[in-house]
Amino acid sequence: MRATAVVLVVTLCACAPSTPLPTAPPDAERGATVFVGARLLSGTSDPPIEDSAFVVEKGRFAFVGARSAVIIPEGAAWVDLTGKTVMPAMIDGHSHIGYVRGTTSGPANYTRENIIDHMHRFAYYGVAASQAMGSDFGLLPYLMRDQLAAGVDPDAARFLTAGRGLAPPSEISPSNMRHAAFVVTTEDGARADVVELSSRGVRIVKTWVDDRGGANTQKLAPNLYRAIIDEAHQRGMRVAVHATGVADAKELLRAGIDIFAHMISDVDDELEALFREHPGTVVLPTLPAPRLAVHAPQFESPPALLTDTISHAQIERARAQRAALTGEAATRAQESWAKLARGVARLHAAGVKLGLGTDGGGQNGGFIGWTAHAELENLVAAGLSPAQVITIATRNTAQILGLDDLGLVAPGKSADFIILDANPLDDITNTRLIADVYLRGHRVDRALLKSTFAKEMVAK
Ligand SMILES: [Zn+2]
Repeated sequence: MRATAVVLVVTLCACAPSTPLPTAPPDAERGATVFVGARLLSGTSDPPIEDSAFVVEKGRFAFVGARSAVIIPEGAAWVDLTGKTVMPAMIDGHSHIGYVRGTTSGPANYTRENIIDHMHRFAYYGVAASQAMGSDFGLLPYLMRDQLAAGVDPDAARFLTAGRGLAPPSEISPSNMRHAAFVVTTEDGARADVVELSSRGVRIVKTWVDDRGGANTQKLAPNLYRAIIDEAHQRGMRVAVHATGVADAKELLRAGIDIFAHMISDVDDELEALFREHPGTVVLPTLPAPRLAVHAPQFESPPALLTDTISHAQIERARAQRAALTGEAATRAQESWAKLARGVARLHAAGVKLGLGTDGGGQNGGFIGWTAHAELENLVAAGLSPAQVITIATRNTAQILGLDDLGLVAPGKSADFIILDANPLDDITNTRLIADVYLRGHRVDRALLKSTFAKEMVAK
């Protein structure tokens, strides 16, 4: 089964984009399976169902409820989950896929093979879909998006792409992730770029408005981002922005921005009022990089889940980078984290919709897949409850990305879920105690994936 799927990927991706999509893998068409006895966190704000049952049929949830209410389909398989906790698979709203490989990172690594490897890593960690934010280039991301959405590799997460982001010339260099971005200098040019992305089926456009701590005096001008937002909205697309300054954030809110892909550095009364005036605007706080500067126990005693995918050389490098942060810089990092955390709690209390973002695979964003679990812990550290954070990482982020069939354990939704050995409502880091991951009703072959990751570590 698996070997066939891999051959399919290779064959189909060499074809033109108009090639008809393959049919779903056979295991999504199996008979019904009943999962009984787990504590079930559905992804909504409802309390957990303590002794649950759910039926998966043709890759989707059929029945979801109490064990006492389930009607078992004729001939159904039976899985006993007594003592386990089930939650929906997570969604990562902000990542950079295809760049990192071992201890190297860059566009040279951006291949079909590496993208699939990253989507395997997401699946291994219980992430059902990940949105690459503006670092993709060429036709490959669109082909990979469509092939993986069609389920040609049942052990891979879905790959969403913003295609090429839109950046001012000052943001682009051959060595960064914006090397292939559209260069925005005029309103008409920006509109034409959005039209091209629309023709590729992109639903979220990525742009950057950042003075980089004063180092960039030529950040994207308001007339240009207004043109991007207007053209995108005319085409039913939304715009995600990398912007951390509070003054820029206010202007972007007035311009109708849809998604902040990072936390805004300061939250004041005026910003909060602007969010209330624009209730559709959401924030992906994307805290792994700022939190890493102040809290990284995983580098001191790496948990097994991390060393399943990451070599000791990679961990050692990350530990050394963090150890280099001392003195005033370390104090500033502490202050910066504390301010971001207060801001997250304040926006959440004000009713702003938050989603999960990790910057996983980005230059400073930590490790693919792992960072989703780190972000849950970060959001709890910012003052949110584990239940709220799980809803943010599942239902909210699926809604933000327009993934109507993901983010909930509910009838009719795709059967994408995580089986845990302990309850994350007791301790959010219990999401790392993964017993199994299912995507589209398929039990991800995590043992096979783990052996593949181990071979890659030896090869590097
Ligand atoms: Zn990013």
